[in-house]
Amino acid sequence: MVKTIGNNLIINHWNGKPYSQRYFDILDKRKTLPIWHQKYDFLQVLNHNQTLILVGETGTGKTTQIPQFILEAIDLETPHPDHKHKKMMIAVTQPRRLTTMSVSRRVAEEMDVTIGEEVGYSIRFEDCSSERTVLKYLTDDMLLREAMTDPLLERYKVIILDEVHERSLATDVLFGVLKEVLKKRPDLKLVVMSAALETHKFRGYFLGAPLFKVPGRLHPVEIFYTHEPERDYLEAAIRTVVQIHTCEPAGDILVFLTGEEEIEDACCKISKEIANLGDQVGPVKVVPLYSTLLPDMQQKIFEPAPPPVKEGAPPGRKIVVSTNIAETWLTIDGIVYVIDPGFVKQKIYNPRIPAEYLAVFPISKASAHQRSGRAGRTQPGKCFRLYTERSFNNDLQPQTYPEIFRSNLANTVLTLKKLGIDDLVHFDFMDPPAPETLLRALEMLTYLGALDDEGTLTKLGEIMSEFPLDPQISKMLVVSPEFNCSNEILSISAMLSVPNCFIWPRDQANKAVDEAKARFGHIHGDHLTLLNVYHAYKQNNEDASWCYDNFVNYRALKSADNVRQQLVHIMARFNLKLCSTDFNGRDSYVNIRKAMLAGYFMQVAHLERTGDYLTVKNNQVVQLHPSNCLDHKPEWVIYNQYDQTSQNYIRTVTDIRGEWLVDIAPHYYDLSNFPQCEAKRVLEKLYQKQEKEKDEARICK
Ligand code: ADP
Ligand code: MG
Repeated sequence: MVKTIGNNLIINHWNGKPYSQRYFDILDKRKTLPIWHQKYDFLQVLNHNQTLILVGETGTGKTTQIPQFILEAIDLETPHPDHKHKKMMIAVTQPRRLTTMSVSRRVAEEMDVTIGEEVGYSIRFEDCSSERTVLKYLTDDMLLREAMTDPLLERYKVIILDEVHERSLATDVLFGVLKEVLKKRPDLKLVVMSAALETHKFRGYFLGAPLFKVPGRLHPVEIFYTHEPERDYLEAAIRTVVQIHTCEPAGDILVFLTGEEEIEDACCKISKEIANLGDQVGPVKVVPLYSTLLPDMQQKIFEPAPPPVKEGAPPGRKIVVSTNIAETWLTIDGIVYVIDPGFVKQKIYNPRIPAEYLAVFPISKASAHQRSGRAGRTQPGKCFRLYTERSFNNDLQPQTYPEIFRSNLANTVLTLKKLGIDDLVHFDFMDPPAPETLLRALEMLTYLGALDDEGTLTKLGEIMSEFPLDPQISKMLVVSPEFNCSNEILSISAMLSVPNCFIWPRDQANKAVDEAKARFGHIHGDHLTLLNVYHAYKQNNEDASWCYDNFVNYRALKSADNVRQQLVHIMARFNLKLCSTDFNGRDSYVNIRKAMLAGYFMQVAHLERTGDYLTVKNNQVVQLHPSNCLDHKPEWVIYNQYDQTSQNYIRTVTDIRGEWLVDIAPHYYDLSNFPQCEAKRVLEKLYQKQEKEKDEARICK
């Protein structure tokens, strides 16, 4: 059904098609958003300023409406004589892939256009936009990548940095980069949007840019604290859910937990406990929410609560158990009760190890405020904080620590160097990173050969910066043709860039699972196991049911295949040869492992006489993660990830030989600059052996 005025159809000027009924239905909803009434004022302020800061509570309509307001008001014709056919664009950045996709889809629906045409999105390894695109949602790191080839971001007329309160690493870097671009491009406009911010800090940084506030429409939320600290927050959270469900009036519940495993576990226990209560209580729908969940499962959080069993019976309830992704970007209508145990799983970087890993931390006061706000969207609500009021006042940090303080900056430094920003010390960071972290990043890039001794980007470094991957992985890709195995290294890199491809059922020791594991397992380690899985997937015609039968995640493999294709394009741009090692030859797996070592030589651990592993140069005691597929403990391993949980683990490990260390990375394994340890003594012998072999070779000649 389409609408008409008189006999005329109402035509969508973006694509020349008549508007659908759905467009008008959504339009009615959009008109009720708080931001709708400030459209004119907003456009006025934007018109008079180059930079503008916009603050409004979650759900006021910033992300979905502001770009459309601008689109209606601004002329996107390009002043560039060469690009006459193509309009300029509006960019909206998001810190997360998931929001980038979901929000752009929503806006395409609101504008009644097909996603990928007038409205598109771009995330790492997936570009869903076209020549027609005028509004592009993209992750912040993708905009930074675009700046590498288009330093003045000339294809954009307006850039919107969204969700800046998250202070993601790429957004922080974009702040500094865009400040410079704005000086050189007076026609470009910047809108900085946030759900809450340290106003003074931002206005100080953006040199007095006007602040535009959108008043929210939050209902009051009553906050409850515990009297004593809880010993087990998971158990306390489950108990609180059951109490609310038994004692409180209708309204859905949102519980904040820290990660996939914990959330699945909690969902299971909540369902069981409530089932045990029988008919005394209403029915429930328990829904998990975390970023690696499949999209159709994510959609379940928008479904309504189940109705009561019969009229007059206790009400049904929806119970959403989520990571902090439900904290600001996602609006779930109907939530009345929030349970906040006060923890979040975050990335952390320790420059002394040096490693980046995930760990659970107390949240900030700002986060606690956002979480409680989720209860007051549709009516007055209640928030149960599972910590004491004293702890809230005394222990919680006011703001979440910006990601720039919690990250390995090697990749960022490489990007900045590629952008031509050499003087990192004077770069205009909103919060400058720790000098030690910057130093580590420079050191690592120098060891990898991406920077020379003066800190200048090398030819190798330029090529490495083009790969949207960690520098170790880009390095092994770039040098893989020298080891005659770029095809295999491409597959391994792709597999390392997607979520875990194995689906081992969590509860049982299953014979079929063990057999599947044994089928793919490679004696030399996990990287080669990943390669086996990828090869088997291709040999079985990328078949979804084959994946299912073999406990392999079809979506992960499909996505690895896509990543691989994109990496192949980048290799081709730099004339890097695609070649395969001869699998009949004795050295096939040796070549692959050597190529990996050429990138990973700084992530090596040595087996000590005690039976523990010690990381090379940093002397951290670590264990092989139990998920590894080795049947023995090799003397030397490379590892992909450091994992600090109850023990220090290294994950995704592959067996390598000590001789290769002194052959491939003598600059790093320089013993004059090596801490005293067992590994050093072994290396000394290996160097002696190498010398002896060289001498013998000379004599033979
Ligand atoms: P903000 O950025 O201020 O938090 P948004 O623009 O993201 O607000 O969302 C405004 C409103 O649009 C939400 O309250 C919700 O009702 C609606 N909305 C946003 N995304 C979706 C979606 N994917 N599906 C349905 N409704 C949505
Ligand atoms: Mg938003």
